[in-house]
Amino acid sequence: MTSCAVIGAGPVGTTMALALIRAGFEVSLFEREASLPADPRAATLQPPTLEMLSALGTGAEIIAKGLSAPVFQFRDRASDAVLAEYDYGRLEGETPFPFAVQCEQFKVADTNARAIEATRPGTLRLKTAVTGFEQDADGVTVHVETPESTAETLRVDYLIGCDGGRSLTRKALGIAFEGFTYEERFLVLTTPRDFFERGFRVRNYVLDPVQWCALFKVPHEGPPGLWRIVFPAPSVSSGIDAVSDAYVLAQIRGLDDTLTLADITHRNIYAVNQRVAASFRKGRVFLAGDAAHVNNPLGGLGMNSGIHDAVNLAGKLVAAQADPSRAEALFDAYDVERRGIADRYVQAQTIQNKKRLEAKTPEERKAAADELRATCADPDRHFAWVMNASLIAGLNSLKDQTGSISS
Ligand SMILES: Cc1cc2nc3c(=O)[nH]c(=O)nc-3n(C[C@H](O)[C@H](O)[C@H](O)COP(=O)(O)OP(=O)(O)OC[C@H]3O[C@@H](n4cnc5c(N)ncnc54)[C@H](O)[C@@H]3O)c2cc1C
Repeated sequence: MTSCAVIGAGPVGTTMALALIRAGFEVSLFEREASLPADPRAATLQPPTLEMLSALGTGAEIIAKGLSAPVFQFRDRASDAVLAEYDYGRLEGETPFPFAVQCEQFKVADTNARAIEATRPGTLRLKTAVTGFEQDADGVTVHVETPESTAETLRVDYLIGCDGGRSLTRKALGIAFEGFTYEERFLVLTTPRDFFERGFRVRNYVLDPVQWCALFKVPHEGPPGLWRIVFPAPSVSSGIDAVSDAYVLAQIRGLDDTLTLADITHRNIYAVNQRVAASFRKGRVFLAGDAAHVNNPLGGLGMNSGIHDAVNLAGKLVAAQADPSRAEALFDAYDVERRGIADRYVQAQTIQNKKRLEAKTPEERKAAADELRATCADPDRHFAWVMNASLIAGLNSLKDQTGSISS
C-alpha cells in the first residue's frame, strides 16, 4: 500500500488526504494548530470544486451548509448603477452544479476532516508540526514535533506540502516563489447588515478608482448570515492605520452612508501576493494549494484551484501505483498541468479582476463598464465569461491538450 504524509489541514490538505484515503492509501495528515484555523478567508466554491467534493462524498454536506450564488453582480460605486450580472445558470449542461456556493473555508476543511476521521480515525494529527524532511530514491523521511513529545520520525513513499503561502515544504525544496506583492493591502470587514435590500446579490464587485470593493454574503451560523466587504488599504509604509475607526468609517460610508462602526463586527487586514512556485514537484515531494500559488481573492479562485491541485495529484498518485513505470511522466504532468492553470487562468484572471475594479481614468472606467455590459449582453461572450470565471474552461483545456497524461 502506498503511504503519503500530507502537511496542513486547510481546505487543500484535507481534500488531498480524503482523496488518498478513498483510493486506499495509507495517509498521515499533520496540522500544527490545536484545531482547524477558523479565521475569515476564502468562501466561494466554484462548480468544478463542488463536483470534486461530491465525488469524495463531502460535497452534499458542504452545499447544504452554504449559500447558492448563481449570479454575480458588477456595480459602479459613484452612480450605484448595476453594470452587469453574470449568470452561472448558463453553465447548465456543462456541470451538474450551475451555481457557485458561498461556504467558509473552515467549514470545507472541517467537513473533509470529519469524513477522514470517520473513515480512518487517527489520520488527522492536530498540534503536530512538520519540522523537516529528507528524500532519497525510495521514499521520504519526515520529522514532526508536538508540544508534548520529543521529535518523531516517519517514513513514507510521498510527501505533499499543503502548508499554505509560507510553506516550509516549498522553502526546504529551494523552489522559488515567483511573482509580486501588491503595495496596498486588503481590508476585510464583516457586517450583519443586509445588502439584498439594495439589490446586491450574494457575490458582488463594485468598481471605483479609489474605494473599489468586493461584497459577499457568507452563511456564518445560519440565517441571516453575514456580509464580508474587501476594500483596498494603504501599504504599511504609508503609516496609515487601516483598521482604525477613522479609516474603516471612511470606507463603509462611501459604500453606504447609513453604515456605522457598530455595524462592523470584524476587521482583518492582509498583504496580497501574486506568486506561483517555479515547480510543483521535486522528486517524491509535491506542493499543492497556497504552498504552490497565491493570488488576490477577487474572483474566488485561490481555494478552488488548490482543491483542484489536490484532486489532480491524487489521480496521478493512484495511476502511478497501478503502473509504476509511468510514475515520472505522471508526476511531471501534475507540475505542467497545474502550474499552467495557475499561470494562465488563476493569475491572469485575478490580476485582471483587480485592474477592472480599480480602473483609474474616466476613459479606463468607461471602457471597463462598457466591456462588462457588452460581454454580459452577448450570449456567446457571457457563456465564455462564466466558463472562465468558474474555472471550467481551464480544466477543459487540460482534457483538450494533445499528449496530456491524465490520471
Ligand atoms: C486573510 C486571507 C483572506 C483570504 N480571502 C480569500 C477569499 O476571499 N477568496 C479566495 O479564494 N481566497 C482567499 N484567500 C486565500 C485562501 O484562503 C487560500 O487560497 C486557501 O486557504 C488555501 O488553502 P490551503 O489549504 O492551501 O492553505 P491554508 O488554508 O493556508 O492551510 C495551510 C495549513 O497548513 C498548516 N501548516 C502550515 N505549516 C505547517 C507545518 N509545518 N506543519 C503542520 N501544519 C502546517 C497551517 O496551520 C494551515 O492550517 C485568503 C487568504 C487569506 C490569508
